[in-house]
Amino acid sequence: MSGHSFVTAATFYPVPESVAALQRKLCTARRVALRSGVLKRCAVHHQVFYDDQDPGPAFELMLDLFKDQAPELSEYRAVKHELLDVLSQVIAESLPYCSDCRAGLVAGWELQSSCDH
Ligand SMILES: [Zn+2]
Repeated sequence: MSGHSFVTAATFYPVPESVAALQRKLCTARRVALRSGVLKRCAVHHQVFYDDQDPGPAFELMLDLFKDQAPELSEYRAVKHELLDVLSQVIAESLPYCSDCRAGLVAGWELQSSCDH
């Protein structure tokens, strides 16, 4: 034995807690993006998407919420930059369309292109 301290798997993989925390952070950032209008929600399928507009208003709204000490962001006040990072991640990773609408469009195309006249 080398004398190094024993490290449990839990130390290496504190998964349940951090995943839940990240999930909450993502949801908070997404709510801000939705409220700013940068992310949109399909009225039919309720899927969130990003139609490639200027993401600036989402960051402005988040900074305003921090400035106004909005209660929904209170737990992130000390890690403001982290939440801003998550916000840009949420926007960047959103599909540019509602995937259900797109599926409908593709199905329509396939129907049309299978016409042989
Ligand atoms: Zn849709």
